[in-house]
Amino acid sequence: MRKKIIIGNWKMFKTNTEAVDFIKAVESKLSIDKNTIAGIAVPFVMLSDAKKASKNLVISAQNCFYENEGAYTGEISIPMLQNIGIDYVVIGHSERRDIFKETDEMINKKNIALLKANITPILCCGESLETYESGKTIEWVKKQIEAAFKGISENDAKKVVIAYEPIWAIGTGKVATPEIAQNVCKEIRNMVKNIYNESVSHEILIQYGGSVKPENINEILNQSDIDGALVGGASLQVDSYLGLIK
Ligand code: PEP
Repeated sequence: MRKKIIIGNWKMFKTNTEAVDFIKAVESKLSIDKNTIAGIAVPFVMLSDAKKASKNLVISAQNCFYENEGAYTGEISIPMLQNIGIDYVVIGHSERRDIFKETDEMINKKNIALLKANITPILCCGESLETYESGKTIEWVKKQIEAAFKGISENDAKKVVIAYEPIWAIGTGKVATPEIAQNVCKEIRNMVKNIYNESVSHEILIQYGGSVKPENINEILNQSDIDGALVGGASLQVDSYLGLIK
């Protein structure tokens, strides 16, 4: 049975102090069953303290660079993350792709470098409203998935968590219907099967992301090809976060 994985994406919100307070408040009330992975992806400056404060929550980075060191002002390397015990990193979020012009090739390099370091990549993919409305979602996501998994072995591919996030549903309040989300996630599983095999496609975890809230998470998680959620806005408040995990 595949586990459920629910990760909050805090984007560029909260301070270090607020992060530690949040983790303490959540952990004092949270009970996570052994088949669920629950966590938060926080800004770089909070990772170290968040990691120290958390007992059961996974603390994920929101990005990384693929080179181990060098003249890359402003970037954070994988060895830096490893040194503070980080074992999940979000890559290819649509905000990184759109605002910071990250390409499929860069995301593939990050995917390869993280897997080499034994860190779990949470690999985001998803289409714009324009692509969705022109009926080209699957074609678009296929291109992103194939590029992201280039050069990755079958054994490593299983460790990647894929997050399908239609851009038109991120932070807009427009949630894709469970049927739309399930259909694309099923197609993604099929893409993984075509690149690798049935066993990889069966094992790999696929999340949905886009305006997920405590009120709609159950119907999303009830879909057979959706193993969890990547949640922005609704992961920022303690009560709302707890509502996602229950
Ligand atoms: C996200 O940040 O990845 C996201 C899905 O945001 P929201 O839940 O706010 O739509």
